[in-house]
Amino acid sequence: MGNVSSRAWNDILVTLRQRNPELSRPWLAGLEPVELANGVIRVQASTSAHHHYLTQQCQTAFNEAAQQVTGRLVTLEFLPPPTRELTDQPLSFEADEVPLNSDYTFPNFVTGPCNQLAHAACVGATDSPGRVYNPLYIHGSAGLGKTHLLQAVCHELRTKGCDKVLYLSCETFTNHFVEAIERGAMHQFRFRYRHVDALVIDDIQFLAARERSREEFFHTFNNLYQAHKQIILSGDEAPNGIPSLEDRLISRFNWGLVVRIDPPCLETRMAILRKKAGLRCAQISEDVIHFIAATVESNTRELEGALTKVLAMSQQCGGVIDLTIARKALADHIATPIRQIGITDIVEAVTECFGVRLADLQGKRRNRSIALPRQVCMYLARELTSLSLEEIGGYFGGRDHTTVLHATRTITDQREQDPKLQQSLQELLDRLRRRLV
Ligand code: ADP
Ligand code: MG
Repeated sequence: MGNVSSRAWNDILVTLRQRNPELSRPWLAGLEPVELANGVIRVQASTSAHHHYLTQQCQTAFNEAAQQVTGRLVTLEFLPPPTRELTDQPLSFEADEVPLNSDYTFPNFVTGPCNQLAHAACVGATDSPGRVYNPLYIHGSAGLGKTHLLQAVCHELRTKGCDKVLYLSCETFTNHFVEAIERGAMHQFRFRYRHVDALVIDDIQFLAARERSREEFFHTFNNLYQAHKQIILSGDEAPNGIPSLEDRLISRFNWGLVVRIDPPCLETRMAILRKKAGLRCAQISEDVIHFIAATVESNTRELEGALTKVLAMSQQCGGVIDLTIARKALADHIATPIRQIGITDIVEAVTECFGVRLADLQGKRRNRSIALPRQVCMYLARELTSLSLEEIGGYFGGRDHTTVLHATRTITDQREQDPKLQQSLQELLDRLRRRLV
């Protein structure tokens, strides 16, 4: 038995990063081998989420990197984190629940106007579980970060030493329930679900289809609620928008806080891309970030997929990441109709909506009746076209790129506070999109 020198281990990490940049995570740097025996390097993970990630996604890549560095047929074994002292509970809460994704933490979550409230609510629920927002219900369409936030809460609660945090998909709850009935093990089932500090269930809309599970969930909910245990749920709709969810559940979900996550605006999409690129240890210039964010606007999952495509394409092209590579990687997305909105469409819609003329927008006047529509144009051009800041500034009377940046920030802030502006923007967006069909 021996150990791997820290230099060799460092080389293994560097090699892994070079060969498989997509697997690289900042926390890998904190891993240390505990022993080397019979050609097996044992490395201990510090959390079960890290352990899951290492065993499920990195095993082969690590073996290959270790073999390349040592020139020998060594392999890696990832050990789970040291187990905590067993309490008097006979049940293991880690046994068959969904493992948490180690990337879905609060520091890795980017906030913007679209998700600020949901984020704050999750942080609040983490700070005083069961006290402030109970239940907490997060909703929004697919790919907007619900699972990420729910899992971030679980990571955080566990870090704080809260062991009995149960995170699961609605499907797992239903499966466990059905299995418990079949095996006559309802007692264990109830014990398991009612002795938690926090119950976090993802995609609760799937509960709607199962009447008996709904009934059981109703009792579980009441039990936990009365005991001041934190309940967090996510769904693709607000509680009253989920078909066939009965009123008593809808009203209970509304007892606490219900928050919606909206699709991210351009600025937030750009910030998310920067964060995801950082997580993959990739350096990407701002023009490429802007290009990807302007091209892919459907949801964050797609945005991340686009980033992966660009990184993969750049790897094939010797590691360069520039606009040409990005355009090539996202050729399919660029063909989508939304890209065909031009600056003239925007100007036409805005001049009509605000009753101003193009000459005013391109002119020097800066009173609010002209400045606001001009800023709206710049904002929409950033959101809907892939024109650069300079190009947009140039179009509106040769203005500087910082003016455009300022305009988009101003409108992003103001739309939050001004319902009238928010409505005008929505109408403009609808109108511009309608043109394409
Ligand atoms: P949902 O559960 O709402 O369908 P997910 O939580 O699975 O969405 O998010 C899809 C992907 O987008 C995940 O990889 C997640 O990390 C990422 N994501 C979503 N929102 C954000 C955000 N605000 N900051 C960073 N990553 C995000
Ligand atoms: Mg999800």
